[in-house]
Amino acid sequence: MPFSYERAKQELLDERAKLSEQLEQLEAVEYESIGYSNHMADDATDAFDQAVDVALKRKIETSLKETERALGKLDDGTYGICETCGGRIDRARLEALPQARRCMDCQARREHGGTQEG
Ligand SMILES: [Zn+2]
Repeated sequence: MPFSYERAKQELLDERAKLSEQLEQLEAVEYESIGYSNHMADDATDAFDQAVDVALKRKIETSLKETERALGKLDDGTYGICETCGGRIDRARLEALPQARRCMDCQARREHGGTQEG
């Protein structure tokens, strides 16, 4: 199927639904586990599980934000434009990663440069 904004939008909407669901499930598990965490022997495991959960939750939240941001760009017509250099993002890249915000060059430079910008 050729790349189109319609398709990207559909994928982003699917992704957003999936991520919201994962987040809800994670929060439900967190809520349920509160009552079971009073056993000394389980403390280390609990702490580990919690750390994993928090990391996973952050990852999902970040992806969700990126996905929503991309959907916003589709609406305001800036979708597919690199946030760093203003150039067009390669279509193959958008197909592989519909929420991409930068072209391949800028993304690579950013990852190697180690800046923490948004
Ligand atoms: Zn760029």
